[in-house]
Amino acid sequence: MQDCLFCKIIAGEIPAQKVYEDDKVYAFKDIAPVAPVHVLIIPKKHISTLEDINAEDAELMGHIMVTASKLAKELSLGKGYRVVSNCKEDGGQTVYHIHFHLTGGRQMQWPPG
Ligand code: 5GP
Repeated sequence: MQDCLFCKIIAGEIPAQKVYEDDKVYAFKDIAPVAPVHVLIIPKKHISTLEDINAEDAELMGHIMVTASKLAKELSLGKGYRVVSNCKEDGGQTVYHIHFHLTGGRQMQWPPG
């Protein structure tokens, strides 16, 4: 999608530190990490928010969770980690291409702010 930051990262128009890529998803290091490990996992298909997914995206969303689990193992997060998707304004979403934060490498707190 034109003018989407994360679509431009997928296309290689904006540089990012890629962690993983396949035909459906792309994962890269967050530019402002909030934990020792902070990776963003995104679908290559442009979907703006979690609110915009529908039944046809079920397999894709599942694939993202399988990818998160796989990357957590590869990144040595055996002690635990967190996967978060912020949705729209109240959820704290700032980039409107759906993404899942994989964070770990420190003790997480609950509830989040
Ligand atoms: P959100 O606030 O929408 O849940 O998460 C967006 C995330 O994208 C933030 O954690 C932010 O640091 C990250 N981010 C924003 N711009 C860039 C960028 O140009 N490159 C990378 N790698 N991450 C970005």
